[in-house]
Formats: sequence, structure tokens, C-alpha cells
Amino acid sequence: MKRRKLLMIPGPIEFEPEVLRALGAPTTSHVAANFIETFGNALDMMKKVWNSPSGQPFIIAGSGTLAMDLAGANLIEHGDKALVISTGYFGERFADLLKRYGAQVTILKAPIGQVVPEAEIENALKNDNYKLLTFTHVDTSTAVKVDPEPIGKLGQKYNVLTILDGVCSVAGEEIKQDEWGIDVVLTASQKAIGVPPGLALLVVSEKAMSVWKKRKTPVANYYADWSNWLPIMNAYADRKPSYFGTPAVNLVAALEVSLKIILEEGMAARIKRHEKVAQAFREAFRSLGLKMIPQNDTVCANTLSAPYYPEGIDGASLLKEIANAGIILAGGLLPEIKGNYFRIGHMGSVNQGDVLATIGAIEASLQKCGHQAEPGIAVGAALKVLNQ
Ligand code: PMP
Repeated sequence: MKRRKLLMIPGPIEFEPEVLRALGAPTTSHVAANFIETFGNALDMMKKVWNSPSGQPFIIAGSGTLAMDLAGANLIEHGDKALVISTGYFGERFADLLKRYGAQVTILKAPIGQVVPEAEIENALKNDNYKLLTFTHVDTSTAVKVDPEPIGKLGQKYNVLTILDGVCSVAGEEIKQDEWGIDVVLTASQKAIGVPPGLALLVVSEKAMSVWKKRKTPVANYYADWSNWLPIMNAYADRKPSYFGTPAVNLVAALEVSLKIILEEGMAARIKRHEKVAQAFREAFRSLGLKMIPQNDTVCANTLSAPYYPEGIDGASLLKEIANAGIILAGGLLPEIKGNYFRIGHMGSVNQGDVLATIGAIEASLQKCGHQAEPGIAVGAALKVLNQ
């Protein structure tokens, strides 16, 4: 029996063999000609994936939280006002982080499974003098997706910098950073970007870079300070050697490979594939009578799903059964309802086989735990979507 299990959590995900081979290749010098080319290529390709030809990309060793920290540390000065639009756990994290840098933070918190209405955001922007706002494209704790375009436009209308936490969305959900006028789009390597954990990735608008350049006080975080990293990114973009902190050489090599795979598929086709897979999961859960956290399909993420356990089913036993069937899923994350739901990641390289295997395992395990449903109904519902 195959001992390796399929990792279907919302990050880290399953990685392509070519990406893992790049990770395992002999490590080169960070100033070797081939590595300089690799780094430069990765920066160029990020701009394409983010749809931001005018943006400044950064690749820095660290997790997604470092990407959030880079935005907060560089753009906040003591006393600045920040608006945090929260759709779950990661919105709260951004609020905590910005406060560390001295921001006066106001949180607009959506009810669980919903988004903050645009009118409420506009009202807040009208009535106070915010320097920036943050929002989460897909909150990984709720699987709620926010539409970034209107918020980007509001930021421009009220001259407020917009920071999008795209950790669970970039390369899985549609993003047009320049067109939508979003100032920072940040992510991490281990999700839809398709590279093992360890890289903080972000693209920053010209406007946000100029706000940063005009800071009156030094950035309070030495490692995160763009003054240290901007010359490095510029050097690699110009295919020149440079050094501030040793880059994660193998991860950057893996990133080049993964970004190539992403662009070969094409962004439009990739987003469509994620939409179809997400819809297949939703139809499968509906057929089994499972309720989802997002309150309607328009706010459902395409990168993960978050269904509630059915009445009378013990979550821990269900996840254990599913793991015995060869599929690793994640439990709940939002503290208020943590024990009531589970999460399935379906982003990056996910294919039809992964989807059907996962749904089959969920369906069979639910039955073992006592949930009544017609055998095969969920796989059938998913297939109907996948075959369209
Ligand atoms: N934001 C979102 C939306 C996330 O999903 C995560 C990670 N799950 C983070 C931020 C933090 O990223 P990391 O765990 O890589 O620090």
C-alpha cells in the first residue's frame, strides 16, 4: 500500500516534482551568474503573476507573516491611522501587527462567513484620515473571499494605501494589482505559488514606494527595512551581484521553476481551473448536506473550502478516518467555531484525481462515522461539475 498521503490542507500544498528537484539541487553561491539569472527571472515573472508591470517585487526569506510585517514595518509610522477589514483570523493578525509599529488601528469585522459591505468601508474612509487599509483576499480560517477591485478603487478615491493579504489567493484567485490600484499584494511560497514554505513575496506600487521614501522616522525592523532590500532586488533585476542577507538560494531556484509552470498554464486558465475545482467541492458538500462557512457562493474562495461537520459527527474522529484513507485535511482555525468545521485546500497543482480521491475519502469516512447519505453521491456531484 502507498504510504505517502495526499496533502490537501490550505498550505503547504502538494508540490510539483520539478519544483522539489530544484530544491534538492546542489546549492550555488548567491552571487553565481546562474543564480543571479534565476533571481532576476523570478522577479520578472512575479510581476506577470501579480499583473503588476509597474510594481516593485520583493523576494525575502521568511513566511507569509514576514510579508505582512514588511508592509507594516515600512509603511506605518508611529501614530498613523490604519483601517483593517477583517474576514477572519488573519485580519486580526494584521491589526496586532500594525499596532506594534505604533498604528492607531480601527477594525471593521465581518460576521462569520460574510464580508464587510463596501458602503461601510467607504463610510469609514470618509469619516477619518487613514494612511492605509488592509484586507484579506481569502481568509484561510473562513474560506471567505473578498472582491479586491472595489476596495482598490476606494483606496484611490480617498487616497489611502491598500494592502492585500493574498497569502491564500495569489496564483489561485484572479489578481490585477495595477488595474485595481492595489498598493501592496503579498503572499507566501507554500500556497498557490507552489513552493515549499520559506519565502515572503510581495509586489509594491510606485505610490507606496514613494510614501515609504518620504518617511520621517527610520523603519523599526532592521531585517524588514526596504532600505536594505531594495538595492538587492534592483541588482538582481539588473542581473548584477549584491548582498544584504543570504537569500534562500534553493527556494528561489524552486520559485523560478514554479512561476514558469504557472505562466505556462496561463493565468486565465489557472484561475478557471481553481474555480471549477472549488465548485466541484461545493456541489459535493451540498449533496452530502454539509453547510459551508461562507454564506453564499459569491464569497466562497476558490483555493479552499470550509464545511461544518454534520450534526452528531465527531470532528477529530472524522479527520482521523480521512487520514486513514490517505488524505490529510485541516481542522478549524477561527477560535469562535474552531471545533465545528474542517478545511480542505485545493490550490496549486491540484488535479481531477486529487479532487475525486479527497471527496471519495470524505464521503466514505462520513459514512463510517454514522452520517447517512447515498453511497457515491458526493463523487457523482463533483464529477458533474468537472465534466462540464
Ligand atoms: N495570511 C493568510 C491569509 C494566511 O493564510 C496565512 C497562513 N496560513 C498567513 C497570512 C500567514 O502566513 P505564514 O503562516 O506563512 O506566516
